[in-house]
Amino acid sequence: CGIVAYVGPRDAAPILLEGLQRLEYRGYDSAGVVVSNKGLKVRKVKGRVADLAKVVPVRFKGGLGIGHTRWATHGVPSDTNAHPHLSADQRIAVVHNGIIENAGELRAKLEADGVAFASETDTEVLAHLVAHAADENDSLEEAVRKTLKSVVGTYGIAVIDAERPGEVVVARNGSPIVLGIGEKEMFAASDVAALVRYTRQVVHLEDGELAVLKADGFHTFASDARETAKEPLTVDWDA
Ligand code: GLU
Repeated sequence: CGIVAYVGPRDAAPILLEGLQRLEYRGYDSAGVVVSNKGLKVRKVKGRVADLAKVVPVRFKGGLGIGHTRWATHGVPSDTNAHPHLSADQRIAVVHNGIIENAGELRAKLEADGVAFASETDTEVLAHLVAHAADENDSLEEAVRKTLKSVVGTYGIAVIDAERPGEVVVARNGSPIVLGIGEKEMFAASDVAALVRYTRQVVHLEDGELAVLKADGFHTFASDARETAKEPLTVDWDA
């Protein structure tokens, strides 16, 4: 339902929580965050963003993170089914808006290969597929691109890799993703409402586009991996 991502010099967690709060008006049943700091640290709960904030420690350090508010489509609302979802090796974390239509088939294949699933969601296949692809590809964006080729359905996603603590990869197909450009920090969200407290400079992804965000900037790519040139827009907003 709602996505927020951050990479930069500040701690991500308070920014993610604040952004998720701004997306509450869309409705949701659970919420979660993950930050990268010598490994991925996850907190997720069924309930409100305020309930999530209570279980996020004050010293939840890390300048890279992604957060989500979930509106369940596959699997009941629960702590376990809340996003983020991690790969079995805890290396990759994914948040996802939308529906993976061939999740059942992808899950059966992964289970046949010995992958143990932690949740009932359609989303979790993405974490395992990206982890497998990350072992065979030099970049996280290649791993995400390869994964998305095998997926049928709608998505806005944000992905982080514990082994690449300086970047977030986001992608869109049928579910919005907007980038927020800060001063030596980058944001992304499913809705500009989550970003306006931090920046007015935004870039909307098109369906099929993927973006790599680092603290010092971003690159966007079409589905054929060619880089796309995107001009930031200035949003006018009374926040
Ligand atoms: N289909 C996913 C799930 O049920 C994502 C739902 C959403 O968009 O929040 O977990």
